[in-house]
Amino acid sequence: MAEDWRNTGDLPQTAYEVEFSRMGSPLLEKVSAIWAAARPHSAIALGKLFVEQKYATLSQIPRSFHNPLSLAKPDGIPADGDDRWERYPSDAAGVAAWKARITSPTYKNGVYARTVTLADLIAVYAPPHDNNDPARYEREVRERIAAYREDTSVPELNMTKGLIPLPGFNDEAGTFTKYENVGCNYLGPRQIDVLFFHRALGYGARGVADWLKRSDVQGLTDWVIDPVTAYMIRLVDIKANNPPTGWAQGPYRKPVPDLQKMVARWGIGADAINRHGESIEVAGMYGDPISAACKRDLAQWTASRAHDRGIAWDRFPLTPEGYSFIYGHVEACGADYKICPGPVVWAFINDGELIEMVRGILKTVQTGGVVDAPVKNDPKPAPVPKEYAKPRPIRGLAKLTLDDLDGIAAVTTKEGSTFRVVTNQVVAVIDTPRFQVANVASKARVGPDILKGEDFAPVWEFTAADGERWYLTSTFTRVRAQDTAIVGVEPLKA
Ligand SMILES: [Zn+2]
Repeated sequence: MAEDWRNTGDLPQTAYEVEFSRMGSPLLEKVSAIWAAARPHSAIALGKLFVEQKYATLSQIPRSFHNPLSLAKPDGIPADGDDRWERYPSDAAGVAAWKARITSPTYKNGVYARTVTLADLIAVYAPPHDNNDPARYEREVRERIAAYREDTSVPELNMTKGLIPLPGFNDEAGTFTKYENVGCNYLGPRQIDVLFFHRALGYGARGVADWLKRSDVQGLTDWVIDPVTAYMIRLVDIKANNPPTGWAQGPYRKPVPDLQKMVARWGIGADAINRHGESIEVAGMYGDPISAACKRDLAQWTASRAHDRGIAWDRFPLTPEGYSFIYGHVEACGADYKICPGPVVWAFINDGELIEMVRGILKTVQTGGVVDAPVKNDPKPAPVPKEYAKPRPIRGLAKLTLDDLDGIAAVTTKEGSTFRVVTNQVVAVIDTPRFQVANVASKARVGPDILKGEDFAPVWEFTAADGERWYLTSTFTRVRAQDTAIVGVEPLKA
């Protein structure tokens, strides 16, 4: 069966733009309207626009007629001179008139309606008795169409879910107990709409994960990764039946516009960013470097999620809904409250490095290649850097159960110290040490000084025997309260 010219279809508007630019065509100025007027026959139209008048750059017909496809009046004859040709208010109108004519069932008793092949169409449109060469005309039209079918049509991408494996990880989801309203809520099914990046402000992926797993701890993040070895721990399987929605990015204040769009989509206020945002903690302090292995696994995790989210490689990091797929915590809470994930992770996700890595993985898979999970060289989290002392947990606090906390905001340990629960966000007002023990004279530090203006999240407040007031952080860092200021009083919950 002969191929019907009506099935030739469209070319992208970019084909029109490239051709009109190439020939210095006046049609470029109104390219969108011209292309739209030609659809759904924009492929044949482009070929004919070339053959007829080289895109309105070469014609006997006055430009003011806006007749780039050289439509004659139905009864026009050469003897009529310029009057032989149709006149239109715009080039787009001229193209629309062409489309109306060739698709008309009745024009000249159905002279076009009876055509089937491109050769039929051209023989009627440009008959040999009118000084045309239909064979050459058809060849040139086909050449123009073929050039842009090859070059500018959008290739089919393989968007089958599950093609990009997650990096290797230790799965600890479901192995611990978290209670409703203590660091998480059970809000029902979760969906990975976007990703959030955090910095843990504590050393060692193991320690950070163990803290978050505690039933008394007012927070929960879905993943933890080691900044040196890339050892990765999953705390929440977001696709599990009834997974906890951790309090990972709260409070929700001064969100960037993209996050406002994301929340608007889900219509459940600030809970949306925790429930439908999967979150990861990069262990270590804000200023600590992250290794190539850590970057590689963060990219693999991001690519795996982005692919399953239906994001084409050349669109990443934009979701199909038009907002970003990746966020730093700070974008949900305002930099005056918290600068998490801090300059190192932020630069990685924001300055193009992560985006380029993820695009590379997505492109490989979506254009037919295969990507394996990265091979782990070191299955263990990195030890706390030598120059620092190990954080010293307080056993009495770790052993607390929900009942101990219910309704009270202070706990007295067996040793006699009283710890008051705090949810304030705090910044250092001077460079202040991360003490291992609550003793100003002590030399032991569990990390670099918290720099002036840098934030941290205390969980407990207590007063030492000498009267000094201290904060204790989630990773058992002791910080002198007098070196700090409170910047936010909203609880951690989003
Ligand atoms: Zn954070």
